[in-house]
Amino acid sequence: MPNRTILITGGAGFIGSNFIPFFLEEHRDVSIVNLDKLTYAGNLDHLEEVKNNERYKFVQGDICDAGLVGSIFNNHRITDVIHFAAESHVDNSIEGPEAFIKTNINGTFTLLEAARQHWLDKANRAKTGFETSRFHHISTDEVYGSLGESGFFDENTAYAPNSPYSASKAASDFLVRSYFHTYGLHVVTSNCSNNYGPKQHDEKLIPTIIRKALAGEEIPIYGDGKNVRDWLYVRDHCTGINAAFTRGKAGETYVIGGNNEHNNIHIAQKICAILDEVRPRRKGSYTEQIAFVKDRLGHDFRYAIDATKIKTELDWEPKSDFDSGLRETVSWYINKYQKV
Ligand code: NAD
Repeated sequence: MPNRTILITGGAGFIGSNFIPFFLEEHRDVSIVNLDKLTYAGNLDHLEEVKNNERYKFVQGDICDAGLVGSIFNNHRITDVIHFAAESHVDNSIEGPEAFIKTNINGTFTLLEAARQHWLDKANRAKTGFETSRFHHISTDEVYGSLGESGFFDENTAYAPNSPYSASKAASDFLVRSYFHTYGLHVVTSNCSNNYGPKQHDEKLIPTIIRKALAGEEIPIYGDGKNVRDWLYVRDHCTGINAAFTRGKAGETYVIGGNNEHNNIHIAQKICAILDEVRPRRKGSYTEQIAFVKDRLGHDFRYAIDATKIKTELDWEPKSDFDSGLRETVSWYINKYQKV
């Protein structure tokens, strides 16, 4: 991919800050401009390793700011977009949905419009020649709603979002789709299952379990703990995004998952068992701290992914096994929480 300058949005968040160092290493001839508002969820400390890289530039700002986004496209001659920026926490969307509508829907629209104007507008096209520039939209399996005990989501599953978060992501997926069908923008969307790994915000399930355990506090688990998620190591998600970005077909969707289903109580027990081994309590097990709390409103029961399409068409496979990925993750958070 010679001489590409890729606008990455939300690069200071969990997945973006794992993706940027990986992508710069993987593609020695690309430059990245990272546009991030630095909401409570963004953290530039997670990008220390790239901050002096001459192929990396950070811009603090809002993806809803059309003037700023347009000037970034112009000043950096942006060739492609990989769009991570979002409000991402379901619980926050239940408390206050408005920010989700603004960032996830209006923000995605602002980026699509900038891409359309800069890449497809005839006057600009003569200057840039970027009519095959790629717009990769990062989305979630939560747009498909909830499964029962059996079955899997795939690219043909009907959308049935249940939370304001997943509804706002679903709306953004549809906008992205429409820019392919209406304007011929070279979009790709990937819908991934739950990620785990280093650099995730404290509010999410796995960091919360580790933090509360180490602090000697109650480890809160929603409802009866039986809700099932498919867990994918964040670096495997990064390689999946790379596969879809570089080899995916314009206009296509790829679901990405780890074939690794666990219910929440099992996740908490597994983490407690690792902590019992590497940071034993004075007495007893961390599992004694697990406490069931009032369930999340509208809590989806189960998500699971059939990732056959990305595996067969783009030759992608997750590489990490859950036990070692979880151990690495636990030790990253032990380091983090013990520094505080
Ligand atoms: P995150 O909340 O950790 O990070 C989001 C980042 O976006 C933050 O750095 C934040 O500052 C930035 N941001 C928020 N609003 C912005 C705005 N208006 N303008 C510019 N930047 C803004 O999220 P994440 O977990 O890294 O998720 C990244 C993407 O992946 C999201 O689109 C999410 O829907 C999707 N996704 C996440 C998961 C998961 O398990 N975490 C799974 C599937 C899909």
